[in-house]
Amino acid sequence: MLDRLQAQAPDALLALIKMHAQDPREDKIDLGVGVYRTNEGATPVFRAIKKAEQKLVDEQDSKSYLGPEGDTGFVDALKPYVFGKDATMGGRIEGMQTPGGTGAVRLAVALAKAAGVTRVHMGTPSWPNHAQILADVGVEFVSFTHAKPDGSADLDAVLGAICGAGPTDAVLLHGCCHNPTGVDYTADQWAAIAEAFAETGVLPLLDVAYHGLGHGLEEDIAGVRQVLAKVPEALIAYSCDKNFGLYRDRVGAFYMLAKEPGQLPAITSNANALARANWSMPPDHGGAAVRYVLRDPSLTREWLEELDDMRARMRRVRARLAAADNEAPGLNLAALGEQNGLFATLPLDKNQIVKLREDHGIYMAGSGRINVAGLHAGNTDKFIAALADVTR
Ligand code: PMP
Repeated sequence: MLDRLQAQAPDALLALIKMHAQDPREDKIDLGVGVYRTNEGATPVFRAIKKAEQKLVDEQDSKSYLGPEGDTGFVDALKPYVFGKDATMGGRIEGMQTPGGTGAVRLAVALAKAAGVTRVHMGTPSWPNHAQILADVGVEFVSFTHAKPDGSADLDAVLGAICGAGPTDAVLLHGCCHNPTGVDYTADQWAAIAEAFAETGVLPLLDVAYHGLGHGLEEDIAGVRQVLAKVPEALIAYSCDKNFGLYRDRVGAFYMLAKEPGQLPAITSNANALARANWSMPPDHGGAAVRYVLRDPSLTREWLEELDDMRARMRRVRARLAAADNEAPGLNLAALGEQNGLFATLPLDKNQIVKLREDHGIYMAGSGRINVAGLHAGNTDKFIAALADVTR
């Protein structure tokens, strides 16, 4: 039976990590894997999380099962950051903890399917796992263009998708810090998107995986809130794996916005049933640590400071790259200064990407995606010089 299985293509980024690890060059640069790195190239545990984890170890008196909804204290503590301090949305929101943002995206798609959605429209390029999840859950994927060659978001394409959507279609959007392009919708564009969702009644699936890594916690979620303020229903997938540095602890949340509060019990019972069939309940540790951070004002302050530092560092790298626009003509580095988050996609061809790796020890995804946080004061000049070399 099992010998019928065909080998799957290996994950391209994991192959890249291996190649980078085996490269003996001291000044090699890893722009592949999507984790935040400090100026020293490290991906440390947040100080606020370390302290929260210590408290958790000291105070936790049981590891008995929770339900499929996970740590509801975590889910509630996160709500004001997602929906705003006063935005109870009339009791129309319910949430649950999920294994990472990935689990939340999976639940969003599966719940949408259970409710009758057959097709999901999504801007491309996108995080590769989006398409894999859509295929695995069994809904059709329809692609529209996310970004224009000038490095801005393609509003006409997304409005075309929403306004052309059928009665069993949903539209999946990145909330902020788009992966892999870094190209986000502007406030005016979000207003038009919110209006289109409201007019058509198309279900929005909103994926927020890098909250706070663009311009700030409030700024980054403003577009999502514009949509939520206008639509009757929405599904929101949220990851704490980047903005709390919890990657391998798998911390996510899934929120459902219903037309009326009375509809939430039926909706959440379906989400719970799907969670049980998929993973039964989410891993506890990371979500509990986030709960400790968000319920303790001094830990919250420390977390916010750490997040501010991360964001400021990435904005400095972006500004440096943007200022080098003339040094590598044709790459539109200037646009990187306007874009957000961990990622940017450079219009490099395959040969240029191979040359960067072989001649300069610079490792990036085959799509031209770079992890901006892989750059720092000590290697950005080298990176720019290498770009100048391969685009000459
Ligand atoms: N959505 C997007 C757009 C992402 O880039 C990622 C992570 N790479 C996720 C969701 C899932 O994040 P997590 O690691 O929390 O599962």
